[in-house]
Amino acid sequence: MEKRILGVAAHPDDLEWYAGATLARLAREGAAVTFVICTDGSKGSYDPRAVPRALAAQREREQRAAAQTLGVREVIFLRHPDGELEPNAALRRELARVYRKYQPRLLLAFDPWKRYELHPDHLAAGRAALDARLAARMPLFYPAARPRGVGVWSIGEVWLFNTDAPNHFVDVGGTLDTQYRALAQHRSQPSVWDDAARAFIEQRARENGRARGIEYAEAFRRIVIEGAQVLAEGTRV
Ligand SMILES: [Zn+2]
Repeated sequence: MEKRILGVAAHPDDLEWYAGATLARLAREGAAVTFVICTDGSKGSYDPRAVPRALAAQREREQRAAAQTLGVREVIFLRHPDGELEPNAALRRELARVYRKYQPRLLLAFDPWKRYELHPDHLAAGRAALDARLAARMPLFYPAARPRGVGVWSIGEVWLFNTDAPNHFVDVGGTLDTQYRALAQHRSQPSVWDDAARAFIEQRARENGRARGIEYAEAFRRIVIEGAQVLAEGTRV
């Protein structure tokens, strides 16, 4: 059976920037990967004349193109206002519904406990993504947020990106180029594809791999939830 994977992030370009080479590799190996982007990305510009609504539309197009480059099948946009994401019950409910519908084995999300992470949306997206995991597996949480014919769902494994406590390293030597090409789709965000960005990504991958004897790696905090998969199999409708 194909492996279903969900990536949850705050903004268009986050998944490509923090985990793009890994996601490209997983997709190449046959996984069915879906992205969830929590905000509309409408404030992602240093140009004071930029029009937020137009920017949001452009960034959705860029995100779809980037996802396609990585081999991702679908992108879900939750369109919360950029910069104001809160890990509240409403967001948790939205994500729990997605988890129940798509039934991922593996969740990739921001590490919400990363020290000195200064972007509030990154922290909020990570926190909500993890909190929704619990809600998705318990039937009394948000009973109306169960798509027709779908029961609860328990995600058995989580990989947190943008972490300062990594314990899992993925060899991405074969997909770094795909990551660069995906990032280049985000034309409105030069800081993720210019020469400095490319040098940064290569250096980061090299450092992540060094101690493990890998040339290029992406780093994650991996959490395996014991018994979750057994529960998930038992609760499918
Ligand atoms: Zn971001």
